[in-house]
Amino acid sequence: MNDCVFCKIIDGDIPSEKLYEDELMIIIKDIAPKAEKHYLAIPKKHYKLFSEMTEQDAADLGKCIRKIGDLADSLGLENGFRFIINQGDDAEQTVFHLHMHLIGGQKLTTRNYLKDH
Ligand code: 5GP
Ligand code: ZN
Repeated sequence: MNDCVFCKIIDGDIPSEKLYEDELMIIIKDIAPKAEKHYLAIPKKHYKLFSEMTEQDAADLGKCIRKIGDLADSLGLENGFRFIINQGDDAEQTVFHLHMHLIGGQKLTTRNYLKDH
């Protein structure tokens, strides 16, 4: 049984504010935004770390990142955004399904990093 919250969101078993979906990823609003705009771009395939990725996963993640470049304006990130991927304990990754934070919609400061301490 898969207890992953992001897999459940992808499957529609947990509700989310979904802004985009294609065959490789979804983009949703973060439930606890750290800036005016805070989205999560979540590859549909479940894995936690870069070190677990197959060559195909790497190619797919590259496509997702390129697509984010096309979508940024329509997400209200036309003036730029911060792109963060937390990996493992020192980064305090809390959801063990690799995801990309897209943070913007305002002038960003160090406060708009994901962890406050
Ligand atoms: P991490 O710390 O793993 O890089 O980031 C996990 C992010 O997922 C956090 O910013 C957290 O607010 C967000 N999050 C956790 N659970 C949910 C949820 O059920 N729905 C949404 N939309 N975001 C979530
Ligand atoms: Zn998952």
